[in-house]
Amino acid sequence: MQEATESKEKENMNVLFSTQKVIKEALDKLGYADEMYELMKEPIRMLTVRIPVRMDDGSTKIFTGYRAQHNDAVGPTKGGVRFHPSVTETEVKALSIWMSLKAGIVDLPYGGGKGGIVCDPRDMSFRELERLSRGYVRAISQVVGPTKDIPAPDVFTNSQIMAWMLDEYSRIREFDSPGFITGKPIVLGGSHGRESATAKGVTICIREAAKKKGIDIEGARVVIQGFGNAGSFLAKFMHDQGAKVIGISDAYGALHDPDGLDIEYLLDRRDSFGTVTNLFKETISNQELLELDCDILVPAAIENQITEANAANIKAKIVVEAANGPTTLEGTRILTEKDVLIVPDVLASAGGVTVSYFEWVQNNQGYYWTEEEVEAKLEKVMVQAFNNIYNLSRGRKVNMRLAAYMVGVRKMAEASRFRGWV
Ligand code: GLU
Repeated sequence: MQEATESKEKENMNVLFSTQKVIKEALDKLGYADEMYELMKEPIRMLTVRIPVRMDDGSTKIFTGYRAQHNDAVGPTKGGVRFHPSVTETEVKALSIWMSLKAGIVDLPYGGGKGGIVCDPRDMSFRELERLSRGYVRAISQVVGPTKDIPAPDVFTNSQIMAWMLDEYSRIREFDSPGFITGKPIVLGGSHGRESATAKGVTICIREAAKKKGIDIEGARVVIQGFGNAGSFLAKFMHDQGAKVIGISDAYGALHDPDGLDIEYLLDRRDSFGTVTNLFKETISNQELLELDCDILVPAAIENQITEANAANIKAKIVVEAANGPTTLEGTRILTEKDVLIVPDVLASAGGVTVSYFEWVQNNQGYYWTEEEVEAKLEKVMVQAFNNIYNLSRGRKVNMRLAAYMVGVRKMAEASRFRGWV
C-alpha cells in the first residue's frame, strides 16, 4: 500500500512538473518575464483539511481533503471535487492549474480551482458519503462561495453529492445559495445539459478534428478508455452519430469488438462508477485497448495512460483527451512525430466547466434556459475554442497542447499584470 502511494506520488510530481514545463514554454512564447511563471507555477492558495466522519458501524474515520485555488486574477476560482483513494496534494495542485487553463481557453470569467478527498466511495454507504460531503464543506466553507470559489463534480462525485454540499453550505451561510456549486440536480438549480456537457464538448472536438484529418464520423472506428461520466455519454453520442465504438474500458478491464459494441446494452448495465466489464468473460487489458487499430482514440479515465512505453504502438490518427492529463510529454512528442492529431485535455474536456458556468449564470439571474439553448451556446463556445487553438498551432508551428496552453494562460497573465501582481 505504502509503495503504491509512493509510486502514485512520483507520477503526480511528474504530472505537475510537465504542466509547469508547458506553462513556462507558453509564457516564453507569449513574451512574459520569469516573474509571471513564478506566479503561475503553483496555486496561490492550498488548503488541507482533516474530516472526521462517523461510519455506519459506529467507528470514526478521519479523511484528508484538499482545496487548491490556482489564480483568481480573472474572477472566482472554479473546479470539481474528486473522491478517489489516490488523490494527493500534488495531483490537486496540477488539476487546479488545468482548470485555469480551461477557463482561459473557453473564455470564462474564472480562475482554476480543484478539490479532492482521499477516500474510496465504492466502499462507502450512501449515508457515509453524505456525512463526508457535508464534513468537507464545513471544513472548506471559509474559502469557498459563489463569488470566491465554486466547486463541481469530478471523478466519482455526482449531482447527489453536489446537493448535499449545497445544503450544508446554505445551512452554514443561512441563505439559499445555489451558485455556490454547479453540477446540481435540476430541481436544485442545476442546468439542463450539464451532466452530458463534458462528453458533448468532446464530441464537438472529435467532429472538428475529424474534419481537419478528412475522416468521416459515419463508420469511424472509435476506442474510448473509461466508462464514467465522460466516457459513457461519449460512447452514446458517437454511436448515435453513426461511428463504430469498437472498444471501451473501466478500471478493471476492457471490451473489444471490431464490428462495434452494443452500446445501449453496456449503458444499461454499467453501475454508477462506470463499471461494466465484470459482466463479461472475455476482456482485454487497458493497455491492449489503447493500442487497438482504430481511427479515433479517446482516453476518458485518468492521468498518465499514453506514455513513452506505448505511444509508438498507438494506431489512432486522432487522440482526443477527455480525461485530465492522460498523455505524458514524452507520449505527446512521440504521437506528434507520428503525425497524430492530439486534441489536448484542457480544450477537449472544457465542455463541463463551460456548462457549469452557464449553470452559475442561470443561478445568479434566477432565470433558466432550455436544453436547446444550453447546447447551442456550448456548441458555439467549443467550435470557436477548437479553431482558435488549431489555427494558432498551425500559425506558430507548435503542437495543439502548447497552443492550448498559450491561449489558456494569456487572459490570466494579462489580468494578473493589470492588477499589478507581476
Ligand atoms: N471536474 C470538471 C473538470 O475537470 C468540471 C469542473 C466544473 O464544472 O467546474 O473540468
